[in-house]
Amino acid sequence: MTTGKINVSVENIFPLIKKFLYSDHEIFLRELVSNATDATLKLKHLTSIGEAKTEYGNPIIEIKINKEGKKLHIIDQGLGMTADEVEKYINQIAFSGAEEFLEKYKDSAKDSGVIGHFGLGFYSAFMVASKVEIITKSFKDEPAAHWICDGSPEFSLEPHAKSDRGTEIILHIADDSTEFLEEGKIRELLTKYNKFMPIPIKFGTKKEALPKPENTGDDYKTEYIEVDNFINNPNPAWTKQPSDLSDEDYKNFYRELYPMQFDEPLFNIHLNVDYPFNLTGILYFPKLSADLQIQKDKIQLYQNQVFVTDNVEGIVPEFLTMLKGVIDSPDIPLNVSRSYLQADGNVKKISNYITRKVSDKLKSLFNENREDFEQKWNDIKIVLEYGMLSEPKFYEKAGDFVVYPTTDGKFFTLTELKETLAANQTDKDGKLVVLYASNKDAQHSFIETAKEKNYEVVLLDSPIVSHLIQKLEADNENLTFVRVDSDHIDRLIQKDDNQLSKLSEEEKTQLQSAIETIVSKETYTVQLEAMDSKAAPFIITQPEFMRRMKEMSQSGGGGMFGMGNFPEMYNLVVNTNSDLATTILSEKESDTKERLVKQALDLAKLSQGLLKGEELTAFVKRSFELIK
Ligand code: ADP
Ligand code: MG
Repeated sequence: MTTGKINVSVENIFPLIKKFLYSDHEIFLRELVSNATDATLKLKHLTSIGEAKTEYGNPIIEIKINKEGKKLHIIDQGLGMTADEVEKYINQIAFSGAEEFLEKYKDSAKDSGVIGHFGLGFYSAFMVASKVEIITKSFKDEPAAHWICDGSPEFSLEPHAKSDRGTEIILHIADDSTEFLEEGKIRELLTKYNKFMPIPIKFGTKKEALPKPENTGDDYKTEYIEVDNFINNPNPAWTKQPSDLSDEDYKNFYRELYPMQFDEPLFNIHLNVDYPFNLTGILYFPKLSADLQIQKDKIQLYQNQVFVTDNVEGIVPEFLTMLKGVIDSPDIPLNVSRSYLQADGNVKKISNYITRKVSDKLKSLFNENREDFEQKWNDIKIVLEYGMLSEPKFYEKAGDFVVYPTTDGKFFTLTELKETLAANQTDKDGKLVVLYASNKDAQHSFIETAKEKNYEVVLLDSPIVSHLIQKLEADNENLTFVRVDSDHIDRLIQKDDNQLSKLSEEEKTQLQSAIETIVSKETYTVQLEAMDSKAAPFIITQPEFMRRMKEMSQSGGGGMFGMGNFPEMYNLVVNTNSDLATTILSEKESDTKERLVKQALDLAKLSQGLLKGEELTAFVKRSFELIK
């Protein structure tokens, strides 16, 4: 066996940079502005410890476009480099780092945008430039240096007349990258990546209205002056202490983050930890619309105030990706694939920390102002219910703040709900029966019937509720959930054992077969019940089990039980004590009998929202005929 080393020639680095980073060319600007920021912050540090005998002042970074000359300039007032340092930091390290670059790079192909983390950020300039110049003057007392490289490993390095401290990078934009000479494009990139960087970034100028002088008449025309235009807010809210921020500050920052978003956040969670990992940030609970997909990718990930990505999958627990806000952590490895990320110990800890902070916040909101919390419930429930299903650590804490609203506006915690049910809502096995409605309007008549009996009806109307119910039943042995319109409801309401039947056994048999010959046997199981004569004559219910299975196979899990097409199956409960039952029974004319049954069935379907399309049209037509 022979072993060896594949030698990667230095000549190959530029074609590689161009080829492999193609999809993400735009990150060059982030890298160069990051370097300019680093250079400025380093100078700040050196002056503060007295190692740089120079005035720090109020340094800025400036981006300039020279469209005619096809050049883009990135200028800083940072610590600069001596000629020796250019040799060391720009030439040697980067060129000799080619192999290392390739080694590391093969993992990160999917996660592009991380070139800076290989110490090769500077070279990303060659993705868009055919030639790059560095003109740099160190804070040290040495002449400025001028470095020029056209993308081949050859470069020139000469002294330069520049006298003020700092570095200017000049990109000669390549013919295939002229979009980066457009003001709009550069502004877009600076706003995306550099909006919260710590050193002021100047880009162009803007008009600003002068204050109106006193004693001017109505014909006064506002005067404008040109002022420097700055891209960034160097001190974003998440870098501050929670105690220094008011509610209004948090809301303002939300608007700063999402200028196109007009909703107000419901509440925020300030993240701030420095051991065992470093993380700051602010998460916001937005008002969620029913369409969960469009909510994704709204949390922005930063590293030291530099925007990295808005895909936080694997870093933030999945149920919280529906939130908005900012996370800033230098401890998240980015030059790795997503699957590696999930296995990373730090990332796991970060994810757990975020889950804990969110549940702590929810708990305190619930405890401090329960009424307010209940009002927000409708807007946050999806996230919380999803969290209960997907995150065991969150589920453990959920009992402290998750509430179950009733159809008439009460809110119970699970514990409170159990206490309430124990008094009035148990079945023959002694199980607590949670009656619930999934749609207040569609199930209105059933809800009313239940309320007449003084039963509490819980409103569970989010799309994943059937999964949640399944989980709650599994974890609470003595709890059973029954939808108001399902057949199990017989155990509690409608059927009254003390209710005597007006019909004899024989009449019942006659009625049953009369109805069965008219309605579809595959769809309806006819069930006779002696109920209050004022109760509806025909009621349609659906077996709880069937319906739940069906819902679960539809929502999420993509047909998780491999049962895609569920048959439509219902119970048709006929109230034998109703006048209509007697009428049907005594009707001799078979046409009339059929019409009565069909009309009654349609009415029952209508009250359940089951009458649609052609059937509904026919029903309306028939009903008009009846009242002619
Ligand atoms: P990294 O930023 O990860 O160290 P880069 O390739 O982006 O790698 O930069 C290489 C080095 O070049 C930097 O570490 C720094 O020493 C030097 N450098 C780059 N840009 C500047 C600048 N604007 N001012 C001073 N030094 C710079
Ligand atoms: Mg860099």
